[in-house]
Amino acid sequence: MTNGRTSNQALPLPAWGIRLESRKVDSETGAIKKMPPPGELIVALKQNIGVPAETIVQPGERVLKGQPIAIASRWGLSVAVHAPTSGAVMAIEERPIPVAGGGTGESVIIEPDGKEERYAGYVAQMNSKRLPPPQIRNEIMEAGIVGMGGALFPTATKLNPGSGIQALILNGVECEPYISADNALLTERSDQVLRGAAIMLAALDCDECLVAVKADMAEAQAAVQAAIDALGDDRISLVVVPAFYPAGGERQLIELITGKEVQAGGLPWDVGVVCQNVGTAAAVAKFFDEGEPLISRIVTVTGDGVGTAANIEVMIGTPIVDLVEFAGGYTDDAAGLVMGGPMMGFSLPHDQLPVTKATNCILVAGQAELDPSVREMPCIRCGECARVCPAALMPQQLLALARGPDYEALESQGLQDCIQCGCCDYVCPSYIPLTSRFIEAKQGLWENHLVSQRSALALRRFDARGERLERRESDRSDELQRQVDEIGPAGEIDADALRQLKQRVKSKKPGDKT
Ligand code: SF4
Ligand code: SF4
Repeated sequence: MTNGRTSNQALPLPAWGIRLESRKVDSETGAIKKMPPPGELIVALKQNIGVPAETIVQPGERVLKGQPIAIASRWGLSVAVHAPTSGAVMAIEERPIPVAGGGTGESVIIEPDGKEERYAGYVAQMNSKRLPPPQIRNEIMEAGIVGMGGALFPTATKLNPGSGIQALILNGVECEPYISADNALLTERSDQVLRGAAIMLAALDCDECLVAVKADMAEAQAAVQAAIDALGDDRISLVVVPAFYPAGGERQLIELITGKEVQAGGLPWDVGVVCQNVGTAAAVAKFFDEGEPLISRIVTVTGDGVGTAANIEVMIGTPIVDLVEFAGGYTDDAAGLVMGGPMMGFSLPHDQLPVTKATNCILVAGQAELDPSVREMPCIRCGECARVCPAALMPQQLLALARGPDYEALESQGLQDCIQCGCCDYVCPSYIPLTSRFIEAKQGLWENHLVSQRSALALRRFDARGERLERRESDRSDELQRQVDEIGPAGEIDADALRQLKQRVKSKKPGDKT
């Protein structure tokens, strides 16, 4: 399915996107570090797209490492949440969580006891690949596993597309310029990623897995190829993707590898593909190999504002302030915090926020990296933004429509297809923050849809009421006619009796007996 190419031959450059200067080298040097438990863990219950998990522990209770502390909600897409280590539940309360635009979420506050005592409820399942697909998916759901590339979509749901899946693509492309967490994972633990891939193939009942790695990740490529050779599973192969941004976007990667385009509003399933992050595959293997649910992840901590850039394996719920401290603390140059990379990440207001399953990078930006000196200028219609857009949009046109805002036109011009990659901002000579305008416009479009849905509902209710009233009026006329017919021809009764009868029928309420 590799667009007519052999697996480790680099795919051609796409017509869209940009080449970014890599800033990964600082965090790439050195092995993955493991951070010990901090003094307090803030475990947010909303760790997935959809509905937050529901707590099953109480303040004062002792919990063990890997023990479920919240179960998947029955009210929508949801996954379980587990205690990252052993300790005491100190509180269950609203705490600030790291989401774009800020916000709070119910969180379980755990004070680690340093014993790392393990929960015995989950055991390793060495025959995992022979389990029936529904059971594999149930286990993955139970393990609280979500898309580790930052999307947070429940993995078990994504592994249940029905029949007709021809390939599983494992995304290890990591095209943001500072992030190297997946690179480190592939370099050091490719065997674990491939074990997860084999379990996912069994869940999908599929026979092809393509592990996508970027052309400038030589060590990771070598490690993946060595692991494939050692495993001897000819269903799994390596695909080398151009070092171009945003080649790691799900739709863009599928198009690069298969030549197939996922249509607007469609899903990768439509073209016979399921795409998962390499970190997600590693999390699946860890649960089946060791009985450990998703309680930790690798985070790249980098930027001019941190002492020593590194990839750090950290417990979910670790406060960012402690993570930065573990990475050598802030330098005098530290000027701001970003979660995710500089292209698709978002600013954090402070460091008292926890690491979540979505945290792949904490960028502690220095003064120069924030570059506050740029000033927005008017659009000069150069067309550069359209040239680089990976979603084939016309950003300058969307910008004009977003000013209105003209939601109908924004929708017809494909605003929903914008993947918020930031390419248009990057090339814009007028320094227009196009992406943030599109994020706001998407939010407005969503709210506008809600208002339209409410108006349509109100209109339907109004029409239904009109129909009810009409029906009632017609029933009354029929009733009058029936009683008149019962009495006989109008000429045979006196006029007063007829008037009283009409009055009686008029004043009758629905449901009154005749
Ligand atoms: S790149 Fe900037 S200046 Fe050029 S057309 Fe797009 S919005 Fe306008
Ligand atoms: S942010 Fe949206 S409009 Fe801009 S280049 Fe990316 S996909 Fe296109």
